[in-house]
Parts: sequence; C-alpha cells; structure tokens
Amino acid sequence: MRNRERCRAAAWCAFVWATLLPAPAADQVEKTLADRSRQYLIDLIRLDTSNPPGAETKLANYLKKVADAEGIPNELVGGDRARLNFIARLNGSGTERPLLLMAHSDVVPADRTQWSVDPFAAMIREGYIYGRGAQDDKSLLAAELAVLVELKRRGLAARRTVILLSEADEEADSSGIQWLIRNAYPKIEAEFAINEGGFSFDAPSGQRVLQIQTAEKIPSRVVLTIQWCIWRAPSRGSPTPINPYGSIPRREDTCGKSLSCPIIAGSDRICRSWRARVRRLRQRMRFAAAILSLTRSSARRCRPPCSPRA
Ligand SMILES: [Zn+2]
Repeated sequence: MRNRERCRAAAWCAFVWATLLPAPAADQVEKTLADRSRQYLIDLIRLDTSNPPGAETKLANYLKKVADAEGIPNELVGGDRARLNFIARLNGSGTERPLLLMAHSDVVPADRTQWSVDPFAAMIREGYIYGRGAQDDKSLLAAELAVLVELKRRGLAARRTVILLSEADEEADSSGIQWLIRNAYPKIEAEFAINEGGFSFDAPSGQRVLQIQTAEKIPSRVVLTIQWCIWRAPSRGSPTPINPYGSIPRREDTCGKSLSCPIIAGSDRICRSWRARVRRLRQRMRFAAAILSLTRSSARRCRPPCSPRA
C-alpha cells in the first residue's frame, strides 16, 4: 500500500486555525503554518509507531520536546510506560469551555513488500510526502501541533483553553483514550473536539475541499428473534361441550425454536439476508402447518386395523 499526501497537513492546519480565528488572519498565517506542519509531519512519520507494538512514547517525547521549547505546559500520561499519551494545554480566559484538538499517535503496520519507498522515511517526491501515517493520522497531529505553537507564539488571549491530545493505541484496542477517560478525564474535558475524519483535497477546479465528518462508524449490534407457534382450528363450527373452541384457532404445542440473527445497524447486506431468512421461515411454517393438519386428520380417521400409513 502506498500513501501519498500533498499538503494534507497544510489543509488540516488551515481548517483547525479557521476554527479559532476569523478568515483574514487564517490567510495570513497559512504559509507559516503549512511550512511548520509539513516539517512536523516529516518528523512524525520517521518515528515508527506501528501498532503493534505501538511504542508511542517516543512520539510523545518528540511532542514534549517541541512543546517545552515553546514554553507550552505539557505532560505524558498513561498506564504503560512504553505507550504514553501526550497532553499540552494553553490556558484561555475560561469564559468558554475548552477546545480539544486530538489525533492518535500510532499507525497500522506497513508491509514493506507492498511499498515502493521506505514507509518510515517520509520521502518527498514531486510535491508529495510518502509514508505510513501521512494520511492517518500524523498529518492531523502535525497540523494541530503547528496551530498550538502558533497560538503560543502570538500570545493570543483566547476565550477557550486549547488542549492538544495525542493518544496511543487508537488503531487496536484504544487503550490510550480508555485510560484517559478512566484516570484523567478532567485533563481532556472540553466543550467540543476536533479529531480525525473527513478528507481534504484540492479539486481539479483549484478549490480546496475540506470535508466534515461528525461521527465515526460505530457498530450497533442488536439481535432480532422470532418466536413462532402454529395456530390451528381443530374443527369447524360453533363451540360444543366436546370441542369448546369450535373453529377458533388454538395454539399447538408445536412452538418453534426462536430464530436469532445478529444485525449490525446500517448493514444493508445483513438486513437483506435477515429478510430472506424470515421469508423462508414463513414458508416452512406454512408447510409444517399443512403437514400437521394432514397427519392429525388422517390419524383421527385411522382406527385399528387401519395402519397409520393408510
Ligand atoms: Zn486514524
């Protein structure tokens, strides 16, 4: 697999920055931000954080080094020394609740036989940066880091505290964010967050397109169950002392096993499969009812020496 990203970090940068400042200011700082975020992206790709094993602490240390050099308060936290999360914080006036900028620090493994370049060299070729994580998710992390540094350098009096979070192990067990939620939630609590999702690209018309994604795919598993029974009218006519139900159907003892089918919400293929199963079940129920009816009526007619097969 080959990743190539042209100015993706720069596009993310413009987006993140535009959420914080009016448009004219965003235009002015875009070039500086782009240059800085591009360098951060190259550095981050060269830190191999393939998960497993992740070993994201080395990337967290890189972020810490940058933040320390800029005088941005930060810390490394987590339950595994080799897989620490990074949190930096620029305090605002507090009149509004914090904004959380987040991006994961690990990447999925790269099968080198499928790459035309070293996936961790961050090679630049014809204006593209090649490398594992160039798209997911180090471009966003680089952009957010650049924005945080820009905010600090400008000494802006923001109404919101801006928190930068880089969490470990997103690609596998999400143990980084799980640990943070359980043990350090106040450190990342915010009114809203900007995270990965959506795409940015330059359209043939020359326009830069920034797509917005508001939620990640979330499997929602439910189990649909059918409990089925056969109802049958044993005779025709009005109720009598011998047949108190007359032609009113009664439930047979033949109540079927439940048929369960796991459904993942939004999966058309599985829903179609489920509907087909229900159709087949209905056909089987009609067939079973017909056989049952025939068997019982022949059994009633059959008296010795008549054999059951007569
Ligand atoms: Zn991702």
